[in-house]
Amino acid sequence: MNIGRFLQRSAESRPEDLAVRHGTRRWLDYAGLAERVGRTAACLAKVHDVRPGDRVMIVMQNDPEFLPVFWAALWCGASVVPLNAKLHRNEIAALIGQADPRLLVFNEGTADTAKAALGLADRSADLGIAAGTLAGRCRGYPPLPAPVEREPDDIAWLFFTSGTTGTPKGALLSHRNLDLMASSFIEEVLPLDSRDTLLHAAPMSHGSGMYMIPWVAAGAAQLVPLSGRFDEPEIIDLCAQSRRLSFFAAPTMIQRLIRTAIERDRTEDLRAGLRCIVYGGGPMLLESAKAAAEILPGRLAQIYGQGECPMTITRLPPGDFDPKARDFERRLASVGKPFRRVSVRIDAPNGEGIGEILVKSPLVMRGYADDPEATARTVERGWLRTGDVGCIDDGGYLHLSDRAKDLIISGGTNIYPREVEDVLVRHESVCEVAVLGRASDEWGEDVVACLSLNRGHSLEIEALDALCKDNLAGFKRPKAYFVLPELPKNAYGKIDKKALAGTVRA
Ligand code: AMP
Repeated sequence: MNIGRFLQRSAESRPEDLAVRHGTRRWLDYAGLAERVGRTAACLAKVHDVRPGDRVMIVMQNDPEFLPVFWAALWCGASVVPLNAKLHRNEIAALIGQADPRLLVFNEGTADTAKAALGLADRSADLGIAAGTLAGRCRGYPPLPAPVEREPDDIAWLFFTSGTTGTPKGALLSHRNLDLMASSFIEEVLPLDSRDTLLHAAPMSHGSGMYMIPWVAAGAAQLVPLSGRFDEPEIIDLCAQSRRLSFFAAPTMIQRLIRTAIERDRTEDLRAGLRCIVYGGGPMLLESAKAAAEILPGRLAQIYGQGECPMTITRLPPGDFDPKARDFERRLASVGKPFRRVSVRIDAPNGEGIGEILVKSPLVMRGYADDPEATARTVERGWLRTGDVGCIDDGGYLHLSDRAKDLIISGGTNIYPREVEDVLVRHESVCEVAVLGRASDEWGEDVVACLSLNRGHSLEIEALDALCKDNLAGFKRPKAYFVLPELPKNAYGKIDKKALAGTVRA
């Protein structure tokens, strides 16, 4: 078994169908992509000595060349290690040390950082190659006709988690894990066929790249925007010019996109060719989800997952975003119901109430790379400890409160920041909000709120406090407010509470 077969099969059954678009230009059809991948795989094996089981690190900004590199590494039996292109060279150096790749592929935008990182990690510069050089070099090699056979438990992707709770850990994802991720998505979130297109609006190193797999399995196309990044007007243009376009986005990206569409009077253009925005990776506050569902009815889906159980713990499919659906608000406030292949349990007395979310599934990773202790702490008797805290309602919907470590303990009482954030965001002045704990001699921790404000508004502490008073127990009300032009985000678009901790301490 090798998930590279998905590409081989799509190329055999629909060779002339579009596989990759760059902006509005056709880049490669399926026959062309499979040939490029076969040649690149031959070149990786013959010139760069990449063997089955080796690791190929990919440090590239979104670029169509990402596709041949990614699939060629799998095709020759190696595992891929994509890294976020926005990481600092010191961070990349540390991950090179952890992953020990056979080869590192970079592109124009990351060349300097990647080369510097190889030096910092004490690796030879020969270990790095530009995707463009590889594309030229592979022309001289007859294509490897089929993917190298692998076992279902062999590792396909070494996935570095985004490190919101500490240093990134490398989750070992097998061919079986990714095969099941792709079928679960197609069966339970969005049925796909060759008419569909996946737009890479978010980093291909993470969720967006992971969704390449179901789209390739369905013989559907990929679209890489010319800018290679998340540019709202460009995405609206692409939606206006396309059909059945879907993409993965962090919740903060959806808010930015909708704000731009409204400001420029382009909501019709955004809706025109958009099939679905699949969001996840961080919390979407209820008010924001409602506003998004109003502008994009039936065109949203949510997934809850993590690197350790890739993109597949619970889901809210597009049908759940119909404002007329029963329990609409309750559904939107949740992260949905478990996928069919996933069991979810709450680590609380009798499994009731709020507690850590545990997951058992054939989708759970094989473990963390070279870290048996962290693996044993995280996967206990087959149950993955997600580190997220939540509860299941009587309709079977999972509600996420917070990351266990984001919990605020004030005067011995647990406070879930999410609950306070959900209230504050309802105020018209609030654009983004993050609630966190600040060390306090008296209470252990105080609740404080960091906000960015909508244009033309100023901080109205009294009004915000009154809103909290009307909706929350007194001890949950923020003791202080901090206004920033924009809340800091990590490389994946998630609000970076670690960075905010410095702001509220200062
Ligand atoms: P990563 O493994 O780096 O992708 O991060 C996974 C973490 O992101 C999860 O453990 C959750 O804390 C958070 N997350 C993922 N999906 C959602 C979602 N739909 N809603 C809220 N938080 C989410």
